[in-house]
Amino acid sequence: MDSLTSVAALPQPVDAPPYGPGIYVHVPFCRNLCSYCDFYVVIGRPEARASFVSDLQREMALVVRDARFREVRFQTLFFGGGTPSLLSGEEFAAVVADLRAHFDLDPQAEISVEANPDSLDAEKLAAYRTAGVTRVSVGVQSTRQDELVRMERPHGPDDVRRAFEAMRAAGIPGTALDLIYGLPDSDSERFGETLRTALSFGPDHVSAYLLTLPEKSKLARALRAGDGTLPTDENAAEQYELLCRELPAAGLRQYEISNFARPGFESRHNQNYWVGGDYLGLGPAAHSHQAGRRWANPRSLHRWRQAVAGDTLAWCEEERIDQAGRAAEMIFLGLRRVLGIDLGELEPQLDEDARRRLRARIEQLEREGLLLCAEGRLRLTPRAYLLSNWVMSELLLELDG
Ligand code: SF4
Repeated sequence: MDSLTSVAALPQPVDAPPYGPGIYVHVPFCRNLCSYCDFYVVIGRPEARASFVSDLQREMALVVRDARFREVRFQTLFFGGGTPSLLSGEEFAAVVADLRAHFDLDPQAEISVEANPDSLDAEKLAAYRTAGVTRVSVGVQSTRQDELVRMERPHGPDDVRRAFEAMRAAGIPGTALDLIYGLPDSDSERFGETLRTALSFGPDHVSAYLLTLPEKSKLARALRAGDGTLPTDENAAEQYELLCRELPAAGLRQYEISNFARPGFESRHNQNYWVGGDYLGLGPAAHSHQAGRRWANPRSLHRWRQAVAGDTLAWCEEERIDQAGRAAEMIFLGLRRVLGIDLGELEPQLDEDARRRLRARIEQLEREGLLLCAEGRLRLTPRAYLLSNWVMSELLLELDG
């Protein structure tokens, strides 16, 4: 039995909706630009942070005037970025107080903050606890100094240990960390070292993503210039298999292709995205979704600020998701979950022809051991996690005829 097959034998995660609706706050500030980054970030500019807090407050006041999220009880609040932990404890507390004043946040809401290890301290963590934060997710990426330098991360391995000790001392209920596998010149031995060190911190949740390099990133340019090589597909697959073996053995159950958690510590906010739930995005570059409508704020701090200062929402790129679009999203988002998708929800989105084509393709992929159809749910087999993009695109082709 290989490591990926053995995952199927583990206790499966339970479906525990409602996961949302959620609020996402994009905090775009970072100390420096990591060499692989493709997010919307603003480097430095500490002076811009103070006005960011008041601009967010303005945006909240504008959103509550709009009918879309009126009378909604939010189940999750997520601070992402950028580096939300660059906000001071006071700034963070002010934003959460404003959010509670403007929106109906469930008393049991999951409140998550993404943090970099170098910008967490006792004072900030105390402010998080007072504000009701339930989980802090630390961007670790690697625990090897050489790899952190190459990625131009703003922290070193010792910062991670200190951050976890400080989180424990502050009584943060849920601790999470992010890793990247498939780094240049990495192999399963090096990645195994990072994995074991990361597990020694005792996280409740681990996300691990394969490195994807935007063409224009500094790291991609360095590799093109001959400075290092990416691991082969086989080697990246070995690193992923290591994850799927070591994390469950340490009590972190896989509940999505790239996400593992101790039971009860799965991210509700992210599950809401994967099941197609509603969410409100605040801050530059934040996306929102409500009842089949999707829109975004501009990827520009300046344009976002100008709009809210002028008493208008900066919402743009509005699109309506039709039934075919919803079916496609169920496949490329929902199938990422170990629980897969409910065929009883998927099939009514499709016309008779598409349904027939899809069923035939599912049967074929089942025979190939890549899909599993049981009790009305369609799931990837653990063996298919490595091929998930290919399997999903095969299914999506059948929707288009
Ligand atoms: S900390 Fe994260 S968001 Fe900021 S530059 Fe690095 S990768 Fe990008």
